[in-house]
Amino acid sequence: MNDISSGAAVWEPGWRWNNSFAALGPEFHSAMRMQPLPGPYLVGHSASAAGLLGLPTGALLSPHWHDIFAGNQVPNGAQPLSSVYSGHQFGVWAGQLGDGRAALLGELQPPAGHTGCAQEIQLKGSGLTPYSRMGDGRAVLRSSIREFLCSEAMHALGIPTTRALCVIGSDHPVYREQPETAAVVTRLAPSFIRFGHFEHFCHHDLLPQLRQLADYVIDRFYPQCRLDTRLKGNAYANFLQAVTERTARMVAQWQAVGFCHGVMNTDNMSILGLTIDYGPFQFLDAFDPGHICNHSDNQGRYAFDRQPNVAYWNLYCLGQALLPLIEEQELAIAALESFKTVFPQALDACMAAKLGFHEVRDGQRELTEDLLRLLAEQHVDYSIFWRRLSHWAAQGALAEHEPVLDLFLDRTGIDSWLLQYSELLAHIPRGLAADLMLKTNPKYVLRNHLGELAIQAAQNKDFSVLGQLLQVLEHPFEEHSDFETFADFPPDWAAGIAISCSS
Ligand code: AMP
Ligand code: MG
Repeated sequence: MNDISSGAAVWEPGWRWNNSFAALGPEFHSAMRMQPLPGPYLVGHSASAAGLLGLPTGALLSPHWHDIFAGNQVPNGAQPLSSVYSGHQFGVWAGQLGDGRAALLGELQPPAGHTGCAQEIQLKGSGLTPYSRMGDGRAVLRSSIREFLCSEAMHALGIPTTRALCVIGSDHPVYREQPETAAVVTRLAPSFIRFGHFEHFCHHDLLPQLRQLADYVIDRFYPQCRLDTRLKGNAYANFLQAVTERTARMVAQWQAVGFCHGVMNTDNMSILGLTIDYGPFQFLDAFDPGHICNHSDNQGRYAFDRQPNVAYWNLYCLGQALLPLIEEQELAIAALESFKTVFPQALDACMAAKLGFHEVRDGQRELTEDLLRLLAEQHVDYSIFWRRLSHWAAQGALAEHEPVLDLFLDRTGIDSWLLQYSELLAHIPRGLAADLMLKTNPKYVLRNHLGELAIQAAQNKDFSVLGQLLQVLEHPFEEHSDFETFADFPPDWAAGIAISCSS
């Protein structure tokens, strides 16, 4: 089963495998023997992600490709492997983890002149690996659909993320709290390296490998760190600072859009500042700063409003792992300090855009804090509020306040907030502000109940809801008159959805 007919022209001409992570050596990974997935079928695919690999249009509709993305056939040139990493889970050192159910097929390099960058292709749920520990190496259909849809939704929202090419399903049974069926998500990213990879080599005092890994990531993704004269020209400290800044900006975007990751363990933190490992994530319905979206998170460690602090804590772990390379503790601390300026600045910039301001304005932070307090007190739907505010701004100074006010039981607070906001807005041409708001405040987000609708249909072999949702989430700022219901308030049953780490 382990190869396809030799010489088959798999990718479009000019694309070639360049498996640079594999070339790091056996300390970093183990070769994978793929476990066949019986009877693979296509559940959903993203044409835009397919474009990143130069896949011919419609390729994903052919059984040949279903076999490849189920892990049943390994394309010529791919070198399937699972990587080793460790990490802190829920604030506690968890020791060795690794890709327990993911196979990196390899890295595909576009032809010269192509605008895209090289992409690693990873199959998640492809079977047992040396790092599976007590797990079965599989992923269930429901979690694969959630990961697929959210990856593509986040990308369309402009938030850095790993991408998802397709979900391949199978009737192969997988046992969680109850019997379910297996699926494989094909994920794409320039690299799947996590903070936990660095923690692994530091923890085991494998200094040459730690340096090799850091040099690899710097050379490929952070080459400017070698030229940076800040932090005494220390390339590793500059690397830590660059990761800190990317992570800070990513989390600022999460907070602005109301995204709760749910499992911000250090093994779920990308070294490229990408959102990675979609499990019990949630887009907020009613605004609740302390919202805990992960049913297994009893202490609320990963509550919505704790995400920035947790990101900083995780970066601190990365800093400790890089310390043997940075050598001077003060430099590591200085690199991490950048979080404290970059995060608030990035959040201010995101909130400015949501309010229709092209730059951060005096008094904006107080205005935002007042608003968020009102939204929390009155349990106002976060996404619907911003969208209605955008439409109100678009309609001009004399526009009806009603659609916005209707979201509040007690209107006194929001009445005076709108007055204050109007004064700031008066300095900007309405059209410009409204344009920015309508491009910043999505009409469609992947609420839990929407994912659930797609999952329930798919479990009955109806993949149309997933296709419709993807279509809408790929253009979340546009109107989709056929799919207005996807922009509605959550139904009552949404409150009963409990998403845990079990996937
Ligand atoms: P996650 O919570 O999905 O980020 O997973 C944490 C760790 O558990 C990672 O090392 C995963 O590879 C591993 N893991 C999760 N689910 C499974 C599974 N079903 N089989 C094997 N390993 C798993
Ligand atoms: Mg993970």
